[in-house]
Amino acid sequence: MAGSCDFCIRIFKCIPVLFVLSVVAWSYFAYVVQLCFNTVQSNVERVFDLMVYHILLFFFLWAYWQTVCTPVFTVPRKFVLSAEDQDRFNRAENEGAQKQIIEEVTQSLPLATRTASGGFRYCHICSHIKPDRSHHCSVCGTCVLKMDHHCPWVNNCVSFSNYKYFILFLGYALLYCLFIVMSTLQYFIEFWEVTGNPDRVQRFNVLFLFFVAAMFLFSLVSLFVYHLYLVSHNRTTLEAFRAPVFIRGPDKNGFNLGCGPNFTEVFGDDVLLWFVPVFTSMGDGVEFPVRYGYSSSSNRYHSMGRTINSIGDGVEYPQRTLDPASDHLLGSDNWTDDNDDFRFAPYVPPLSPRTAKRALAPTNLDNSSSYDSTRSSDQCEENGLNTGSNLDRQQTFVV
Ligand SMILES: [Zn+2]
Ligand SMILES: [Zn+2]
Repeated sequence: MAGSCDFCIRIFKCIPVLFVLSVVAWSYFAYVVQLCFNTVQSNVERVFDLMVYHILLFFFLWAYWQTVCTPVFTVPRKFVLSAEDQDRFNRAENEGAQKQIIEEVTQSLPLATRTASGGFRYCHICSHIKPDRSHHCSVCGTCVLKMDHHCPWVNNCVSFSNYKYFILFLGYALLYCLFIVMSTLQYFIEFWEVTGNPDRVQRFNVLFLFFVAAMFLFSLVSLFVYHLYLVSHNRTTLEAFRAPVFIRGPDKNGFNLGCGPNFTEVFGDDVLLWFVPVFTSMGDGVEFPVRYGYSSSSNRYHSMGRTINSIGDGVEYPQRTLDPASDHLLGSDNWTDDNDDFRFAPYVPPLSPRTAKRALAPTNLDNSSSYDSTRSSDQCEENGLNTGSNLDRQQTFVV
């Protein structure tokens, strides 16, 4: 019973993808058959239209396929507490001992971000520490590396593994629609002006093709431009709504290395491959270069591989290989996040009261969001830090 229910849910999730493919299939018939072969009179124009159309269609479908079918990258096993650590944790006599154990475990992990209260980000559903920029997707049922959002139109999480594909999919879909609108505009106008009785099916298909392409074009432009903006600032959609919290407080620009390096991080170091839907993103999805002062350890990736790049801001990009211990989970979500506070292991940076006050000053906070720092205040007081009114800010989130 449960199996058949899961099957039904899977089919249901595929409906948006099937809808997109159906629209593309119909647009192929309308453009190639009804427009190019039945309407266009000039052979030169027909050949040109068919050639450009098929090139755009090829890259559009290729990028879409990659976005849909690329599995999300999940959290490596090194972020899971070992059985021994878990046992020690369970047998710890008090919260302080538990905190000590977690701090020991996380010392070897590349973590630059914290929860709003300063603790380590922990997923109680998956029972592991969350790497930077990862979030738990309730649709996929797992934590996803550098999660951007879960997109029903691709039935997959848009994340580290397929973000480049997603942007290319938007870009090529935009060009596809734009080309259709431009090449059908002339016939769209002629069909409105014609007084005779042309083929009604042909007329309907060309007119409807123009309207549908224009409608999708309008939607895609805003989405595409928005994601280019996010890439240029090195933010995910989730981070745009809720800034990641670093040692010095929340900062939407914590991963922002400058426009060029930001694009390189997503699209790779070979500009010619930027427009090809193959995997060229930099890093391993676990560790990301951060702005100076935010890193808990090094400001470089630790990964294996061949890439040796130094581009801008002294940021050295490593390899694009993945941690072999990571599981690849086929996507099946909504975002549930960092309210999964690891309450037993709050992280308190070893700052003097004066440094702490300066670090948490409003200049480090993004204007568009504010965070609940009440618990941070409690923690700082517990550690003898008087952080002042900056930590008494209410936990409100403003989009
Ligand atoms: Zn999780
Ligand atoms: Zn998901």
